[in-house]
Amino acid sequence: MAGEPQADCLFCKIVTGDIPATIVRETETTVAFRDINPQAPTHVLVIPKVHYPDARTLAEQAPELCADLLREAGAVAAEDKVDDTGYRIVFNTGSGAGQTVWHAHAHVLGGRGFNWPPG
Ligand code: 5GP
Repeated sequence: MAGEPQADCLFCKIVTGDIPATIVRETETTVAFRDINPQAPTHVLVIPKVHYPDARTLAEQAPELCADLLREAGAVAAEDKVDDTGYRIVFNTGSGAGQTVWHAHAHVLGGRGFNWPPG
């Protein structure tokens, strides 16, 4: 359920510290940590501490938290010094778009060139 911690959710367990992660930033409402399988020199996931299954649910039910995520994505890019060259913020939403973890997250990717349209 949106907003409730999920016992079987990988990212809820990263929030509680039950699963280790390389955390790069933390705020009252968000955690940012390095992706275990990086697709770019900077590949950080920014998540809300509270569980929402995907970006759409997050945006509909907690728009201010959605803004927190985007602000933190920018802060991550600045800290990793990829903001000058440009970076990508990706919300895979739905299995057809590649979402594999059902806890809303923004991918922050930078430090290399990107193609458009994305694969
Ligand atoms: P999605 O495919 O849902 O958009 O993104 C999920 C991301 O979570 C993937 O990029 C994947 O590599 C990452 N991931 C999966 N398991 C773990 C983990 O245990 N730790 C970390 N840090 N990242 C993970």
